[in-house]
Amino acid sequence: MSQLRGRALLLASAIGDMIATRSVRHPGARDTHPSKRDTSNPGPDNPVLLTQFPSSVAPPQTDKGHVPNLWFPFSQAHRRIQHGGWSREVTVKDFVAAKEIAGVNMRLTPGGVRELHWHLAAEWAFMLTGSAQITAVDQHGRRFVDNVGPGDLWYFPAGIPHSIQGLEPAGCEFILAFDDGNFSEFDTFTISDWAGHTPKEVLAKNFGVDAVAFADVPREQLYIFQGKIVAAQPTQIGAPGVVPQSFSFRLGAKQPDYQTASGSVRIADSHNFPVSTTIAAALVEVEPGGLRELHWHPNADEWQFWISGQARMTVFAAGGRARTFDFHAGDVGTVPRAMGHYIENTGNEAVRYLELFRADEFAEVPLTAWAAHTPHDLVAQHLNIDPALLDKLPDRKQPVVPA
Ligand code: MN
Ligand code: MN
Repeated sequence: MSQLRGRALLLASAIGDMIATRSVRHPGARDTHPSKRDTSNPGPDNPVLLTQFPSSVAPPQTDKGHVPNLWFPFSQAHRRIQHGGWSREVTVKDFVAAKEIAGVNMRLTPGGVRELHWHLAAEWAFMLTGSAQITAVDQHGRRFVDNVGPGDLWYFPAGIPHSIQGLEPAGCEFILAFDDGNFSEFDTFTISDWAGHTPKEVLAKNFGVDAVAFADVPREQLYIFQGKIVAAQPTQIGAPGVVPQSFSFRLGAKQPDYQTASGSVRIADSHNFPVSTTIAAALVEVEPGGLRELHWHPNADEWQFWISGQARMTVFAAGGRARTFDFHAGDVGTVPRAMGHYIENTGNEAVRYLELFRADEFAEVPLTAWAAHTPHDLVAQHLNIDPALLDKLPDRKQPVVPA
């Protein structure tokens, strides 16, 4: 950068400070000078929430303007509790910013069954604890059975019928994500619901048996029920009568796609999990003090489920707007497409969370890569920094910056 240009920037910055100072001294104007910020809070407040949301109570001074709420906890979602398990959902009806993906958190006891059903949206899932057996049959009558455990995924394409059953000894808990923010898990096509609303003579004719066979068909749908464990043999992908592409994937067990001293990223999208054409996913771990680097996603909104630890995320929404959100295990977050963001681990343990996108592939633009691959003298003039600093940027992508 020329000396002249550098001086001009400094002068512009000084003028900016003068204008800012003058404006805060104007009668009635809000004083935003750091040393004059009034943080007293004598009125009523919720003490539990105060401790959970330090970034809202005392926002960083770089936060400004209106950025919509990008956080919602499963803890606040209504729990539908039945014999055999429970479920709760976070859809766009409650979480307005999450338009592309709806989430469900479900628990099944050993033997608990999420009954045979299908739905319009595609279903992506991540196992949190325990073990389950999943089944599906595709449109060509090809079957699929697998047993899944913590860190495993499944994906059922839209309209493909499936079931989930918790196994011994502890059942299971998992997260479901649907490629439609409006999707409701409480409004699916279930086998018992259909049978209960079909005349028994029609059922008899359809299955070619006597109507008495259906005397005890449930009148209302089961949704989740306590059943007996059916330990079917998992199918071998590609075997006769079996689906050609697996509906499950061992995400937690695979080698990280990116690993640094401060964390890792494991990706599952249609490149390595071909059936998952509408959901791309990353399992991210950030160690204490670590930073998920400044970046954005060009192809979809980001939908997050926070698995463990605690963190804060700052989102840059253009137009001088930025807002920081605090996250804890069990929370859902979202980042609208193209908004810049970064995540910091604020706790004493590793933070683990999922980044999901309604897309066929995981795509991001890191600020570091952008700066590293643009003429350094050009970038340096924008940030008023020494171009030599840019020459030292890492050549490889580092989604979690090594601390
Ligand atoms: Mn389903
Ligand atoms: Mn992101």
